[in-house]
Amino acid sequence: MSFVPSRTFALEKLNNFIEKNLIDYSRLRNFDYGPYNRANVSCLSPYVSHGIINEIEIINRSLKKYSFVKNEKFIQEILWRIYWKGWLELRPNAWLDYLNDLKKIRENFKNNQNYLNAIEGKTNIECFNYWVNELKENNYLHNHTRMWFASIWIFTLNLPWQLGAEFFMQHLYDGDVASNTLGWRWVAGIQTQGKNYLASEWNIKKFTNNRFQNIKLNENAASILSKKTYSINNRDFVNVEILENKSLLIFENNLSFEITDFKDNKFKKILLVDHKNNYRAINLSERVTKFKSSLLEDQKKRLGEKSIDCEIVSIDEIKNITENIYAIYPSIGENLDFINLNRLKNIQFLYRKLDQFSWQYCNKGFFNFKNYIPKIIQKFI
Ligand SMILES: Cc1cc2nc3c(=O)[nH]c(=O)nc-3n(C[C@H](O)[C@H](O)[C@H](O)COP(=O)(O)OP(=O)(O)OC[C@H]3O[C@@H](n4cnc5c(N)ncnc54)[C@H](O)[C@@H]3O)c2cc1C
Repeated sequence: MSFVPSRTFALEKLNNFIEKNLIDYSRLRNFDYGPYNRANVSCLSPYVSHGIINEIEIINRSLKKYSFVKNEKFIQEILWRIYWKGWLELRPNAWLDYLNDLKKIRENFKNNQNYLNAIEGKTNIECFNYWVNELKENNYLHNHTRMWFASIWIFTLNLPWQLGAEFFMQHLYDGDVASNTLGWRWVAGIQTQGKNYLASEWNIKKFTNNRFQNIKLNENAASILSKKTYSINNRDFVNVEILENKSLLIFENNLSFEITDFKDNKFKKILLVDHKNNYRAINLSERVTKFKSSLLEDQKKRLGEKSIDCEIVSIDEIKNITENIYAIYPSIGENLDFINLNRLKNIQFLYRKLDQFSWQYCNKGFFNFKNYIPKIIQKFI
């Protein structure tokens, strides 16, 4: 399985999936047939999470092939990402608390043999060890496997979910602060309080097509307890009406300027920010930072072909910019943390219209959000 870091490749993957496999998606999506047989899912997340292709483009393309009714499951999954993002935007402390907890737990577990065995894939659970290696080698795991992995980590290996979420962020090509942190909280039973996700032997056997045997798990564990609750922090995500001729910063999650809401505006220059590992609280693996750098290069090349003035800059360089500039809002995560920490007040955010509109429906659970999907589709597609 390979993830070529280019928009051309992502579009080919999208077209191929829609033409050949979308029809069976809702029936087969939960099966993990292994890294060499991934046709039943789209494998688009490394591209969507970097904005190489976007949600509107994918949904549009799928609706050209099948009706909304035939497509509903796939569209819901595509919009999960926006829901998780919106949920976190309305409760930013959930991210900050996670990072604070992680710092302490990391220190306490740095010599813990159970933890070291887990991240080396040396536990006595064969499937788990397999997935650790798969994650490190392919930088992707199937959704169901992410659920089993997190559940085994928390409830059978008895390790803190915060360290598991860090391990995923380090190695996933699609590492996304909202989907990942909230995905782990959900498995632990603190996102929907008291409802944890328990992996079971029969379920793993069935949905891996019997690729693993003899899986001894703790199938009766109680949820992780957390007293923290987050009230909604109502913020306005308001865009300026008329854009002036200033430069535009683009971070790692919006790397196709030509499909953004701002594509028709004239900017003085576009600056693509390469964060690398310079100021991250979670250090990414070399494969992941390389993947990001290649995606930045691919965006630069595409902008160059359109004669748009563009440069790749390091995150350090944006501290030295004194003029007023715009930035496509990077969302809660390490880039926004850097801007806030350095009080870069000369940066004015531009919000994606799809986010602006959808995030108002993220105040409750996903089942509530789902009711608004037709409204979202009607407005943007
Ligand atoms: C513990 C845990 C951690 C996760 N961490 C991440 C992460 O860091 N980054 C990330 O992008 N996803 C994460 N996910 C969500 C999901 O597993 C992946 O988005 C999905 O597996 C990507 O594979 P795909 O593109 O083949 O998905 P498909 O099944 O083909 O789905 C199509 C698209 O829908 C979106 N999508 C599908 N399921 C979800 C979901 N549960 N949450 C959010 N978006 C979804 C993705 O953009 C995906 O590309 C996590 C899930 C769990 C349980």
